[in-house]
Formats: sequence, structure tokens, C-alpha cells
Amino acid sequence: MTENAIITARGLRKSFGPTEALRGVDLDVRRGEVLAVMGPSGSGKSTLLHCLAGVVVPDEGTVRVAGRDVTALDEAARSRLRLAEFGFVFQFGQLLPELTAADNVALPLLLAGTPRGRARTAAHAALARLDLAGAERRYPTELSGGQAQRVAIARALVTRPKVLFADEPTGSLDSLAAEHVLTAMLDLVREDGTTVVLITHDPRTAAHADREVIVRDGRIGASSGMVA
Ligand code: ADP
Repeated sequence: MTENAIITARGLRKSFGPTEALRGVDLDVRRGEVLAVMGPSGSGKSTLLHCLAGVVVPDEGTVRVAGRDVTALDEAARSRLRLAEFGFVFQFGQLLPELTAADNVALPLLLAGTPRGRARTAAHAALARLDLAGAERRYPTELSGGQAQRVAIARALVTRPKVLFADEPTGSLDSLAAEHVLTAMLDLVREDGTTVVLITHDPRTAAHADREVIVRDGRIGASSGMVA
């Protein structure tokens, strides 16, 4: 399994003051795998995702992504790595309200130095892949919750990241919209071979993953291919 791993985490520990959020986590994520991370609230799931993605540096342990030791990089290098190789989706899409859907999606490309015309073409294509052709000029307040999450997913995938990190991406949606958004996201990542680390508390969401791990009290408690 390690041979095929795109992410290898070993001995991760992270405390916030007296709170031990992670207490020794080892985890491999295979290339192209959709991994669901489940577990109770406060168990350390988001901290784990942030450590894997180079947002948070663990107190102890290492994270290697595609052979690179992320924990050894400084803040600027981790920031470049995140922009170039990772995509992020959160529970609330965090779209910029003053930008249209297309401009929100184009933003990571523009930040990476892509010329404006090419960024716009790619943004339109990404929106079309998420069934949002025609919504390019709408502002976030003019979108439904499910549409807004699909725009956020388009923005996360427009750079063709190696890994998509998703923290409760459908957590704010009703179950019908959640199913639609999740299916749209997973169809795309499976087509592109994108690796996904997906935090969810919903067993129906986890059932779409290739594998799930359960975080309990800062440790990986169980691992299986089955639904909890
Ligand atoms: P989960 O995602 O499973 O809900 P988290 O990783 O967000 O869990 O949090 C794990 C523990 O670490 C919790 O007790 C939480 O309160 C604490 N924690 C997480 N981030 C911070 C932070 N930035 N400052 C202080 N405590 C934090």
C-alpha cells in the first residue's frame, strides 16, 4: 500500500494548549483513492486534514505528499504547494460574495499566474462539468446552497489538483442536494484520478468512498471498506 501512497503520514501529534487534538496518527492515502474520514465531533478530523494539507504543522511526525516532506517546508513553500497541488472544499463554500461564479472559479488560476483569458475559459469549462453552464455570471447570493457548493467544487478542481481535501462539503445541504453535489464531485474526481480526503459524519456520504477511517480521541480507531 505504501508504494501506491500519495500521502504518507507517520506519528502525527498536535496539541492546542492542553488539548491533544492528534495523539499519534499513521495514515496512508493511495493515489486516486477517495478516503472518508469519520468520527465524532472534536475527535481531530479537521486537524488531521489540516496537517495532511500543510495548513497546520504537527508538533511531531511527518507528512509526505508525492515523496515530498511537507512538514519540512516553510510557510511560503507550503502555501505554494497548496495552491499548485491541492484543492479545498469546506462545509460553507466560502465563495467571495463580490465575485461572479466564473470569477470565483477563475481565482486560483489567476493567483497561480494563468493569463486572464485562459483562466476564464477554464472556469467556464469547470462550471459546465458541474452542471452549472449558464450560471457563470451569477453572484453567490443568487445561487442555491447546492449550486454554491458546486461552484466551490469547480473552484477547487479547476487547477487539476493532485489531492482534493473536503471538510463536510455537503454538511450544510439537505439530503437530496447533498447527494447531487457529492455525486457530481465524485464523478469528476474519479474521471480525473484525483485523490480525495473527505471528512464526513454521514455514513451515506462515506458509503460513496473507496475506504473509510474513523478518528477517535486523536487516533485512527478503525479502518475498513465498509459503511459504519
Ligand atoms: P473534528 O474535526 O473531529 O471536529 P478538530 O480537529 O476540529 O476535530 O478538533 C480536535 C480538538 O482540537 C478539539 O478539542 C478542538 O476544540 C481542538 N482544536 C482544534 N483546533 C483548535 C485551535 N485552533 N485552537 C484550539 N483548539 C483547537
